[in-house]
Amino acid sequence: MSRVESETITAEEMAKIDQKAAEFGIPPLLLMENAGSAVARTTMEKFDHRLKIIVFAGTGNNGGDGFVAARHLANGGAKVDVFLIGRPDDIHTEEARLNWDVIRRMKQNIKVHVVRRPPDIKKAERCLKRGGVIIDAMLGTGLKGPLREPFASAVRLINESGAPVVSVDAPTGLNPSTGEVHGLAVKATYTVTFHKMKRGFPKAKKYTGKVTVAGIGIPKEVEAVAMSKHQYSGWSICGSPKRATRLVSACLMGVNCRYDGRNNLNEKVMHLAAKEVLIPVCPEQLGGLGTPREPMGIIGGDGSEVLDGRGKVIDRNNRDVTENLVRGAEEVLKISERLGIKEAILKARSPSCGCGKIYEGTSPRLVEGDGVTTALLKRSGILVLTEDDLSISI
Ligand code: SF4
Repeated sequence: MSRVESETITAEEMAKIDQKAAEFGIPPLLLMENAGSAVARTTMEKFDHRLKIIVFAGTGNNGGDGFVAARHLANGGAKVDVFLIGRPDDIHTEEARLNWDVIRRMKQNIKVHVVRRPPDIKKAERCLKRGGVIIDAMLGTGLKGPLREPFASAVRLINESGAPVVSVDAPTGLNPSTGEVHGLAVKATYTVTFHKMKRGFPKAKKYTGKVTVAGIGIPKEVEAVAMSKHQYSGWSICGSPKRATRLVSACLMGVNCRYDGRNNLNEKVMHLAAKEVLIPVCPEQLGGLGTPREPMGIIGGDGSEVLDGRGKVIDRNNRDVTENLVRGAEEVLKISERLGIKEAILKARSPSCGCGKIYEGTSPRLVEGDGVTTALLKRSGILVLTEDDLSISI
């Protein structure tokens, strides 16, 4: 490992560290509190805390960090306006939802607004005309691909406002692992990033501004385990063996849910099942498709494009099964949220479960991209691995 690699991390490595911190016994809510309060502290140090603050927050954990920062800043005397970019129903982690409910109940120094569509951004524009410091907590390290609306409109407004900006973890639109921008990203004055410098930041100073690395209480041994090839930590809490819980493609556990009525029983997955509680899911069955069924494939992109309405899923008889695959992905996400699961092991190359590479249409050619369920889980901050990524010796 080079010096740069050991001193920096990618977004994917950070997601693993967060997951291992939870297994170690550090609740994600505590990490969010530490992250949000670090942002508030930096903002108060760099600017007058009695200033006006405008928080642009997304519906994931980065938004949750923004809600926490808003609470601390309002308590410190700042006048805070929080603009949620998306619908409150779409706030998809328990920790972010809890902090959203808290700031909604606060009456002193804080107002919340909802931006569902690009025209709603006008409210934020009027607010910005009165000056203030912007906190960008829209996407952080969770960005995948180019920005969608209404995020793109919010980023344009922020950059054109001329106001100082504090980005939370990473400027919205910037890929923190590579330093790349697909067209548009927030140009921050300061970025408060968590735990360790992100690998792409040195190449993207124009977007990050001055970077502060804030510790959020993750112990060094957690990082060591997360970065090692071993998937199972063996940590115990209160004397009982720690049983990490992940979602897994049902076919990998021997369930005959594959299109041809067979399964993809995987020894490494079964080895893991002896140590962890694995929750088997088949997104295609959960989306209402029967077994056996015709093989299917994505056309017009990958799972992400399907979720955005630009791609479709077609079976071998040319039947459009897009709705089934999207519904199945939503059901899987619901299960992971209900059980607080932050990691999944999904069958490689499938149009639903594939991760990183999927078959093109119904042809045997592999192309870059994620299946529909994987794309939705990743957007919700869930780490997705395939059976090929498991490094357990059996
Ligand atoms: Fe396996 Fe996923 Fe296909 Fe179901 S949808 S058969 S779990 S690969």
